[in-house]
Amino acid sequence: MEGVSYSWYRSSSRHCSKLANGVKMQTHPVAVITGASSGIGAALARRLGQKEFRLALAARRADALDAVSAEIQGDTLAIVADVTRRVDVERVRDEAIRRFGTVDVWVNNAGRGVNAPVLDLTDEQFDEMMAVNVKSALYGMQAIVPHFKERGWGHLINVSSFLSRVPLATYRSAYNAAKAALNALTANLRMDLRRHYPDIHVSLVMPGMVTTEFAKNALGGTPAVTWAAAPGGSGPQIQTADDVAVAIESLIESPREEIYTQRGQPDTVVRYFKDVGAFERGLP
Ligand code: NDP
Repeated sequence: MEGVSYSWYRSSSRHCSKLANGVKMQTHPVAVITGASSGIGAALARRLGQKEFRLALAARRADALDAVSAEIQGDTLAIVADVTRRVDVERVRDEAIRRFGTVDVWVNNAGRGVNAPVLDLTDEQFDEMMAVNVKSALYGMQAIVPHFKERGWGHLINVSSFLSRVPLATYRSAYNAAKAALNALTANLRMDLRRHYPDIHVSLVMPGMVTTEFAKNALGGTPAVTWAAAPGGSGPQIQTADDVAVAIESLIESPREEIYTQRGQPDTVVRYFKDVGAFERGLP
């Protein structure tokens, strides 16, 4: 593995031509992934491990993190951390830089859902949604972007949800709100950096339904849903964690502002914003 170089930006990308043409990439880029002990984060770790990234993997469960690390051939560092605590997120950054010397890509992926309609939400549920889905990513952005600024480049990726744009699952209520807040912070950070740091990329990822432990781990679980009656007819596609990992891997190779991971999602977003009332009346 030593000495093999992996170019993580495609030279054809108009977003990163300067990087591809002007910056010599190091041989084994370093990525930090939060929520890497299962689901999308673990799948992304496996994918990037195959591409010879050096990886710092963060989550709360040491045994699950170690199991993911053990599957990866390359250089990985498992860091037990609760991303709702700023001090833990800063420690993730410090341990990653101590081990690898730098960080190239930081993925704020840790997150959790809720199962409670707006009128039933408790303060505790609301606060948990904001802590794990928004403040965690804010801590991540504030921890790593100064490092990116020192180097003049880097890639920050926030994993949001399609529900942040089209909140059609009302039982996710505060989760949808938290991810919408994450979208706004992501866009604002990108705008703030654009003029003086054009080679720091800030990206948003909006998956749809993904077969992970997410539904089981949501606060209060997940109700059975009749998707056949959803607008658009046949219901949503369901992706695997690896499908989403492939999309994020391609985003790292070719940075963009935001991506949906399913083909039909942009059309649904357009339909939603064109006439919110009509869209809502079409819901089951
Ligand atoms: P999982 O429940 O499988 O994974 C969630 C990950 O987040 C786990 O590794 C978990 O690790 C970690 N995590 C949760 N809370 C914390 C915390 N406080 N501190 C550190 N790590 C934490 O779900 P997914 O893989 O599906 O979710 C990944 C991301 O994708 C989330 O942001 C989610 O909102 C988003 N998403 C998921 C969709 C889906 O349908 N699955 C759809 C759209 C978006 P541990 O328990 O070890 O701490």
